[in-house]
Amino acid sequence: MDLRKVIREVENFPKEGINFKDITTLMQDGEAFKFTIDEFIKDLKDKNVDVIVGPEARGFLMGTPVAYGMGIGFVPVRKPGKLPHEVESYNYGLEYGTDTLEIHKDAIKPGQRVAIVDDLLATGGTMEAAAKLIEKLGGEVVSMQFLIELEFLNGRDKLTQYNVNSLIKY
Ligand code: AMP
Repeated sequence: MDLRKVIREVENFPKEGINFKDITTLMQDGEAFKFTIDEFIKDLKDKNVDVIVGPEARGFLMGTPVAYGMGIGFVPVRKPGKLPHEVESYNYGLEYGTDTLEIHKDAIKPGQRVAIVDDLLATGGTMEAAAKLIEKLGGEVVSMQFLIELEFLNGRDKLTQYNVNSLIKY
């Protein structure tokens, strides 16, 4: 199935010069959505994954059905101040300024094999931060799964020590 056909492209959103990949149109299409989740599961099924992590917010949309389909747990990585219990935090650099992501300290047990699922790989900063959080808790990141990879941003260069899979590349 050609998923490109169901991903809407919006020019100059959220700012000038960005070609935004809108996955809401893919999710509206039941067949395409199911195909997408099944493709993630196909790639992960032989990797002995214990738990799926998804970064806020579109990582929740892609990650939770994968976890459900595999019969394993899901752990959210969130923006600061959203998680109610004790958190581990990680600050990372953006083009301008910094950003922070958080995870519940008791969400990953040492030695657990973790796969991270997100909608899109751009610079790789988000995925790298999510991986650092998992590793701080003693988890092992065994795979990173993306629906979309923007190859021209070279996000993979930040993630060379990881197994990275993307379903479509631009
Ligand atoms: P990055 O940390 O640079 O890899 O950015 C990853 C996050 O930013 C993804 O999870 C996307 O949700 C969002 N993002 C970045 N660029 C785009 C784009 N062109 N279209 C849609 N979402 C984007």
